[in-house]
Amino acid sequence: MVKGKRKPLEEIKSSIDAFVGSEMCIRDRTNTLKADLTLLYKQEKARKGLKTFTIERQCNMQFLVELDEIVKEYDCLLSMACGAGVQHLAERFTQKPVFPAINTVAIGVDREIGIYEENCRACGECVLAYTGGICPATRCAKGLFNGPCGGTIKGGLCEVSVCKGWNDIPCAWHDIYERLKEQNRLDYILNIQTPMQWQNQVQRTIVQEPYESRYIQKRHSAS
Ligand code: SF4
Ligand code: SF4
Repeated sequence: MVKGKRKPLEEIKSSIDAFVGSEMCIRDRTNTLKADLTLLYKQEKARKGLKTFTIERQCNMQFLVELDEIVKEYDCLLSMACGAGVQHLAERFTQKPVFPAINTVAIGVDREIGIYEENCRACGECVLAYTGGICPATRCAKGLFNGPCGGTIKGGLCEVSVCKGWNDIPCAWHDIYERLKEQNRLDYILNIQTPMQWQNQVQRTIVQEPYESRYIQKRHSAS
């Protein structure tokens, strides 16, 4: 799913501060955000009415319709959906200012509690069928679509990861080879794919704030 990291509380607050009266948050983890904002406003002795709502999906107009009547009561909307969801919300309710509470970062999976790993860059030309279900666009630091660069470090690590001092990112093509071999499909690796023009391909990991120290410790102990 799309992964995001909550914006700093002060940034969120400054975007909605101008709107006296009530605000509304939509989407997951709204209660934590509401509690944090409520505390902040309480410390400032400011009276703000905050209300949270969760809908199934913000990227689908059928679900946004549920908010038509509710939204009328509020001065602005604060969304915890991805950038696409925020834009869709703004398109539905053009008369209300809509603010993002999230920095949308990646399409990924939950690797551990609070740690997300990017797995797809929505390239629009999916090659997973040929690569054993491992995405070379995201997981190869050079975004290579046709085999490894030759810099795979012994043990199957990516040379870019090792150069950066993080000895914990596997070479995507090493993993693709091993996966296809395991499935007795190694001939798939010979399919020639059109190269993609990608930059900044190092696979990103998104660590939620409370888990940062734990993750940094883990990364240091791996190097
Ligand atoms: S090849 Fe990778 S980036 Fe492209 S759609 Fe498939 S998983 Fe996503
Ligand atoms: S070592 Fe592997 S993952 Fe790293 S850039 Fe080369 S082919 Fe890509």
